[in-house]
Amino acid sequence: MTSKLPSYLNLKYLYLDPSLSTTNPILQNVKKHLPDIKILPLSSTQSYQPQSLILKKFKGKFLRFCPGTRYYNCCGYKIIHFGENCPLNCTYCILQAYFQDKTLKIWANIDDLFQELDKTFKTNPNLRFRTGTGEFTDSLVLEPLTGYAQKLTNFLQNYSNVRLELKSKVADLSWTNGLHKIDHILPAWSLNAPEIVKKEEKLVIPLEERLRAAQKCVSLGIKVCLHFDPIIYYPNWEKGYSKTIEMVFDYLKPEHICYLSLGSFRGMPELFHTISQKHPKSTYIYEEYIYGLDGKLRLFLPLRLKMFSFIVKKLKKAGLKDQIYYCMESDLVWEKTLGYTPIKLGGLDKHLEKLSFNNLL
Ligand code: SF4
Repeated sequence: MTSKLPSYLNLKYLYLDPSLSTTNPILQNVKKHLPDIKILPLSSTQSYQPQSLILKKFKGKFLRFCPGTRYYNCCGYKIIHFGENCPLNCTYCILQAYFQDKTLKIWANIDDLFQELDKTFKTNPNLRFRTGTGEFTDSLVLEPLTGYAQKLTNFLQNYSNVRLELKSKVADLSWTNGLHKIDHILPAWSLNAPEIVKKEEKLVIPLEERLRAAQKCVSLGIKVCLHFDPIIYYPNWEKGYSKTIEMVFDYLKPEHICYLSLGSFRGMPELFHTISQKHPKSTYIYEEYIYGLDGKLRLFLPLRLKMFSFIVKKLKKAGLKDQIYYCMESDLVWEKTLGYTPIKLGGLDKHLEKLSFNNLL
């Protein structure tokens, strides 16, 4: 059974919170797919073996606001926090600087998650919630082991005021199994230039496979979301990003895309330090970066504008309209590259909410 799993999921140790029941469905799934995994009790003071997964009872709030900042335009999405870290090891991954402990963690008390969501969504039936699970881990990378997304998509089909974005770099569509409706899901893939995929996303499937999965979702009748994030400055970036944009429209039509975000590589200085230590061949960190108002380093504004203008022009030529937005950029960047600011769209959060509730084809 383990032979079907990608190598990054062949985990050796499972640290199990003793307060979880032995019949916990997430635990059962992990044991089914990794029958030889060594199970150890989780305690608060231990360090973990490499190739480990922690299944834990989470006691905090599962639904949270995205940690945006007031200085840039934030998209206003709500995070469903179900786990932390990711085994795909992209060199630029911001999670390297978010969490001290790099061990994979899943909050296995999924019934508590459902209870909290039910209460929030039912208490506010007139509010619309654009939610997602892809902030502190990849939404689907552990799906073959846990089946978490499938349970969540099943649960959420009863809430018409909710959309769930599954943001991923894998092509697992098993979450579609058993759904009687699908319009509450926003499947989303992160894309990059082919050279960046090859050098900086070594464990990730090729762009073609991601786009084939997106195409399959379109054939099921829903729009998909795409994220060009992080856009990275490197020699020949024009050629690379042009190639990826061409590839997108080999698989999808503009009307198949619910929304598409653009975000340049950025992060706290610790992230740059970690990348220099862990990924010494990743030289993009030595380009011209400046401190933004949020204390993060980001590409020097004239270079960002050059890259964004180039990419936006290509996307518009291919037929995209107001589906394009920026993740954490200033009004100045919006104005100079798109010709308007989010105010013209009625506010970025409202605009994306509108698009995401209009996602049936
Ligand atoms: S897929 Fe996303 S979460 Fe996982 S390592 Fe890459 S950037 Fe990080």
